[in-house]
Amino acid sequence: MNRATGEFELIHRYFNRAELAPRLPGLTGIGDDCALLELPPGMQLAQSMDTLVEGVHFPKGCDPNLLAYRALAVNLSDLAAMGATPHSFTLGLTLPEANPDWLQSFSDGLTQLARKVGIALIGGDTTRGPLTLTLQVQGLVARGQALRRCGARVGDRIYVSGHPGDASGALAFVLQGLQPDTAQNPDIRYLLERYYRPSPRLALGRWLSQQGASAALDISDGLLGDLNHILHASGVGAALDLDAIPCSEALTRVYGAEPARNHALKGGDDYELCFTWPENKPMPNAVPEDCPLTCIGQITDSGKLTDRTTGTLLPLEAFTHF
Ligand code: ADP
Ligand code: MG
Repeated sequence: MNRATGEFELIHRYFNRAELAPRLPGLTGIGDDCALLELPPGMQLAQSMDTLVEGVHFPKGCDPNLLAYRALAVNLSDLAAMGATPHSFTLGLTLPEANPDWLQSFSDGLTQLARKVGIALIGGDTTRGPLTLTLQVQGLVARGQALRRCGARVGDRIYVSGHPGDASGALAFVLQGLQPDTAQNPDIRYLLERYYRPSPRLALGRWLSQQGASAALDISDGLLGDLNHILHASGVGAALDLDAIPCSEALTRVYGAEPARNHALKGGDDYELCFTWPENKPMPNAVPEDCPLTCIGQITDSGKLTDRTTGTLLPLEAFTHF
């Protein structure tokens, strides 16, 4: 890339678009050396970063539109988990080449989700190298209201949103190069859709923080492993009701009941929320997301994660890079 023309032109054309990088009051975005933002009084800034590397987090040759959508969704999920409202994000983009079709499709995928949730692209960095995306998202949350991992108390009920396991069930098909628009089987198409276009549970996260959930996180590395982060941070244990784990019909049809449950317990990439709810507080019927909330167990003082029916220890498997 010729830095004098190519790089600046590229940023201007694909990233400094009004729909993606709107000019908002109290915000100076792309174009200066730094973005400047003003926080409304009484609000805290929630920040999170996630990197996606080709061949590690997404397959080589991945559709750029789906890739952009997924990269932003995955980052937004961290804001959802803390109960924060999306505000702005930056994009570190490393590209092997500046292909206009690829960039247009990537920019469109990013814009589609950014507009939907009302988040503004305010800056970034563009370099040449193996395809890698780093996004930093920022959200606003009222001071002291953020959902933390450390708030679970003995007796609290443990809930999960949606149907964990779908994205993990999609992985075998992702690796075959299938995408939602190329899969014939509707169940497999559904699983691929869950993998490529996860739903960051932003409305649910905000609602949980307002309603007084005691702890929460988003499931990126698998339900058991991620729940263990809550247990560890809160200094408690949990007894899980394995029969209550909510698997989607599509996942169950494709894999059968037992393997489906394994995907739900150990598979990552779902970006559903796992949260704890005080024992004596009734769970309201009206929840803000179009997905089920399922009680899957209870916090205990054992310090361990066990199967509620048999009392046996559950493995704390989670995906790690090292
Ligand atoms: P500098 O040399 O001062 O680091 P750059 O030339 O890298 O600045 O970037 C110029 C402007 O474009 C900055 O405002 C920067 O935040 C923005 N920018 C660069 N790359 C991207 C990108 N991939 N997405 C959004 N904004 C970007
Ligand atoms: Mg500079």
